[in-house]
Amino acid sequence: MAKITEFHNYINGKWVAPSGKKYFKQKNPARLSEITGLFPLSEESDTQHAIASAESAYPGWKALSVHKRAEYLRKALQLMKERKQEIARVLTLENGKTLAESLVEVDAAYREMDWQINEGLRVFGQIVPSEQENMFAMVLREPIGVASVISPWNFPFNVPGRKTTPALISGNTCVFKPASLTPQTGYMFTKLIADSGIPQGVFNMVTGSGSKVGEVMISDPRVRAVSFTGSTEIGMHVNEKAAASGIRTQLELGGKNPVVVLEDGDLDLAVKATLRAAYACAGQWCTSTSRAIVVKEIAEEFTKRVVEGAGTLVVGDGMDQGTDMGPVCGSGQLDSIMKFIRIGQKEGAELLTGGQQITGQGFDDGCFIEPTVFGAVKPSMTIAQEEIFGPVLSIFTVNDFDEALESANDTRFGLCSSIFTASLNKAMKFIEGTQVGLTHVNAITAYKEPQLPFGGIKESGIGIPEAGSTGIEFFTDRKSVYIKT
Ligand code: NAP
Ligand code: MG
Repeated sequence: MAKITEFHNYINGKWVAPSGKKYFKQKNPARLSEITGLFPLSEESDTQHAIASAESAYPGWKALSVHKRAEYLRKALQLMKERKQEIARVLTLENGKTLAESLVEVDAAYREMDWQINEGLRVFGQIVPSEQENMFAMVLREPIGVASVISPWNFPFNVPGRKTTPALISGNTCVFKPASLTPQTGYMFTKLIADSGIPQGVFNMVTGSGSKVGEVMISDPRVRAVSFTGSTEIGMHVNEKAAASGIRTQLELGGKNPVVVLEDGDLDLAVKATLRAAYACAGQWCTSTSRAIVVKEIAEEFTKRVVEGAGTLVVGDGMDQGTDMGPVCGSGQLDSIMKFIRIGQKEGAELLTGGQQITGQGFDDGCFIEPTVFGAVKPSMTIAQEEIFGPVLSIFTVNDFDEALESANDTRFGLCSSIFTASLNKAMKFIEGTQVGLTHVNAITAYKEPQLPFGGIKESGIGIPEAGSTGIEFFTDRKSVYIKT
């Protein structure tokens, strides 16, 4: 048997073994018998060591000119370009998404990081006219110190890039914890930063459990900010715990994202967008479409086409060229999604296609689920309210626009939404009424660009959103200065 690679934490500029010498195994979700690596099951003390390193590195990093800091980050970007194929392979190996989807994720990370580096060069203060003569008044922007970055497994490469780049460019130092399902992608990301030659301690990575590593990262008083992406349940806990230590938080959480399709919308486009946003990455985007809310005039046609489309998707190992949809990310995900599908059936939703775990040769050892569509879904059903986070779409039929908007908002989540319509008035009414952090007209729920903020409202997000100009905003303080001459 081939030897399994043992990975290390990255603390104070060195790759180091965890102090307790304990490791956990990670598995390929396409073949659970395949172990992808051994990763540090770190202790509290390892995490504290990383925080201490970030704290010592902070004054030196902050003192560098932003142009010097940008040089290191640009070097990391150059390495990212060179290692793109290798990074994408690791992503697919651990997460299960198709190689094409992994390549898109690396590209997205590149563009977002590039934008934040450039934005860092434009963090200007403000000069404000004073009330007094001979008084000069201005506002400075400053970094805040050590930032904890905690990322999920569904975008294990892009999310760390989106969070750590604005933190680093504006002069903060970081401790990063990847999700335990995707530690090797976290390693690939960290290696880029490490190989850029960045001064020791500026960037640190610790792998391990939420309870041992995560808890320290959200409560140690040396940490000044936590940027977290993950489930609403854990995000709420992070919020409480960090607040008790006076640590600011930026929390990007779950979603239950609706697409509304009106009778005057472009049906071809709406079907295509719904299929893509429901099943790309096996429905495990935070911005995936999980609810299609369709007016009665076109409900039958829309449903027919979506069911047909879902049925033709080729499910398989993400490494295979012909695969449209890979496995879900691990057996925990598999069990949880299958449980929701059974609840949907029990509560009376109509299973229109899919609904089964895929078994047989090439599938038995993996976490494969058929692309699933439910019809006749009612707002009171569990599958209408809970984030399933898998390849499961629920279709609702409504009478008119007003009912569609009401139904779209009938959720505790508020990440993103979209509407397909040719009516400017209805589009504008939707933009005004939809309770989300990002919305779309005639585009998929997941569409986004680096220069706009990205984050949810309601139970989908707390704090200043990531990306755009708010990316750096979160990691900086303002200092008002008065100078009497
Ligand atoms: P999760 O289970 O909440 O975990 C997220 C991260 O938090 C992981 O690194 C996890 O570590 C860590 N963690 C667990 N317990 C912790 C604790 N007590 N203190 C500090 N950290 C702790 O989420 P996930 O399953 O990885 O990701 C899926 C979720 O993320 C979905 O709900 C999805 O919607 C959401 N998401 C949201 C966005 C957005 O921008 N709004 C983007 C992507 C994903 P372990 O892995 O070691 O448990
Ligand atoms: Mg989880």
